[in-house]
Amino acid sequence: MIQYEKTICPYCSCGCGIYLVIEDGKIIGQEPQTDHPINEGGNCPKGRNAYQFLYAEDRLKTPMIRKSDELVECSWDEAFDYIVKKLKQAGPNEFGMLASGKNTNEDAYVIQKFTRLVMGTNNVEYCGRLCHSSTAAGLGPTVGSGVMPISQRDLENVDCIFLVGINLKETFPLMYMRALRAKERGAKVIVMDPRKSITARELSDVHLQINSGTDVAVINAMMKIILEEGLENKDFIESRTTGIDALREHLAGLNLKDLVKICGVPLNTLTQAAKIFAKAKNGSVLFNQGLNQHITGTDGIKALATLALISGHYGRPGTGLSPTRGQINGEGTGDMGCLNVFYPGFQKVGTPAEPHKKFAEHWGVDSLPENPGLPYTKMIQQTKYMWIIGTNPMMAAPDTDNVKKDLESKELLIVQDIFPTETAELADVVLPASTWVEREGIHAYVDRRVQKINKLIEAPGDAKPDWWIVTQIAERMGFKDKFDFSSPREIFEEIRRVVPPYKGITYERLEETLGGIQWPCPTEDHPGTSTFFTEKFNTPDGLGHLQVVNYIPPAELPDKDYPYILSTGRTIFHYHTGTMSRRTPKLDAEVSGALLQVNPKDATLHDITNGTKVTLTTRRGSIQVKTRITDDVPEGTVFLPFHFSESSANKITNPALDPACGMPEYKVCAVKMEVSK
Ligand code: SF4
Repeated sequence: MIQYEKTICPYCSCGCGIYLVIEDGKIIGQEPQTDHPINEGGNCPKGRNAYQFLYAEDRLKTPMIRKSDELVECSWDEAFDYIVKKLKQAGPNEFGMLASGKNTNEDAYVIQKFTRLVMGTNNVEYCGRLCHSSTAAGLGPTVGSGVMPISQRDLENVDCIFLVGINLKETFPLMYMRALRAKERGAKVIVMDPRKSITARELSDVHLQINSGTDVAVINAMMKIILEEGLENKDFIESRTTGIDALREHLAGLNLKDLVKICGVPLNTLTQAAKIFAKAKNGSVLFNQGLNQHITGTDGIKALATLALISGHYGRPGTGLSPTRGQINGEGTGDMGCLNVFYPGFQKVGTPAEPHKKFAEHWGVDSLPENPGLPYTKMIQQTKYMWIIGTNPMMAAPDTDNVKKDLESKELLIVQDIFPTETAELADVVLPASTWVEREGIHAYVDRRVQKINKLIEAPGDAKPDWWIVTQIAERMGFKDKFDFSSPREIFEEIRRVVPPYKGITYERLEETLGGIQWPCPTEDHPGTSTFFTEKFNTPDGLGHLQVVNYIPPAELPDKDYPYILSTGRTIFHYHTGTMSRRTPKLDAEVSGALLQVNPKDATLHDITNGTKVTLTTRRGSIQVKTRITDDVPEGTVFLPFHFSESSANKITNPALDPACGMPEYKVCAVKMEVSK
């Protein structure tokens, strides 16, 4: 019998609807969902090929334990006994847990509850640390919240879109559709990107082709121009912000010629962008890793939010600064508290709210950890026992040779995933997990849009949902009464009780509401919240706090030994570390390996043509990769997608961290390029 079942695309966090065609329990085809309000019948290449990876031959189906240096299949009981015996020896600071932006909210909730309640530590993180931790650190002090303040649907009605460090067409294709519609209606688009990306080429009215890592200098220049020309929104500044005098004084002390020299963008182009942005009625800013992944990512975000505030672009549909979290549940896993300083609902440790006390009461225990845990990369370095769920630091973390050494030295490394990833190869115990259509649960997509996923097919072999595996181990650690969940629905009911923004969202409402409900949703008759900050910001005084920041250069710049800048990013056909997309034949046929983008002038210098194999060397190590000659990259810069293990970009990226949030500087490091022998 053939059924058509609705679900949501498992790739990016736009959250597009798709139909899966299922025959006798097996998915045999798919169609875009025409009535879904996010994609309106469209899907990008990944979304059109959403399910094939499920049937890849190497799906993990059975638990495995390492014996005599080999991973050997075992029963769940055997795996649980082994894990529990080891974990009982772990001190609180010796243990760490990494979750994934692909976990459901229910998975993420029990993961952080396990870490805090069973293991007694805040050492819980997820891959969001590596893409948007600077967002929370930058927007927290500025507007009081690090989430997208709008509905992605409202983008098409603004009259200026400023895209900062985001190649929208390749990374959020259905949001690109909204931006394109806005442009067709007369909106101006400014793109800030060192590369002439397809987004910059197709969509921009002004392309700020900056020198890599000079975002703060550009934004300071734009703000200086706006204030000097008197284009700021004086009413908005007066009524809704604080700090304008300090900002004016700071910018007055900067010299535009110096800023132009730093960022490499001509003054007339900067002026054009500043005027378009400041004069727009409703300006929207989308930003992503190009801004975030620097040692100064937090500074860049503070400056950008300040630019939006002095221009009055906040508090109306479509306006404000929107972080674009990448994974399907990149938002929800953070909402649920898989971060070293946040209990569920972004209740921060060390604040007067004392979330550790609140949650101790909710969970019926005497105490919970009150100090910050270790951030992602430090957790890998400093813990002895690690449990990694659905994420692949051996491809995703910077400087992976050192990550490997750290992971190999663990007393216990548990990896729970759907495929034998590069990280699973190092594990002591491998636990097979189920995917998005093999279990029920909810995700929060990029604009806080909560949608429900249903179980449509059985997981292969003995694979199980993440929440089930965690609760089984919690029970065996002696906490059955605290993890007495028999379904995701029961977990979600606990979430609704302890995470106020989710209180009014129920499984029943989500099943009836096409396109989901945007949190905060305080009551069961509340429609959800599409626009934040309409009256006040989430700061203690309700005002937007204008920030003063100075340009600081990247941690590692080219020199005579390493004369190029290496930058990394994504392509439309693949996704993150390639675990799913590289097991999708149609996607892998489109792009089957990494191609290093090299500027034609640099190519001539090295006698390189399309397809030449080169060796890239940084202070961390070397990789080999084939080249693609293109003037998308400026002279002196090479660009490498990070999806491909055989030319793994993160083997050589710089692990230098943003001191404010622990974000690695993926976007700039110094590299040498030689034709391979
Ligand atoms: Fe899937 Fe994102 Fe493409 Fe939509 S835009 S189909 S959610 S990958």
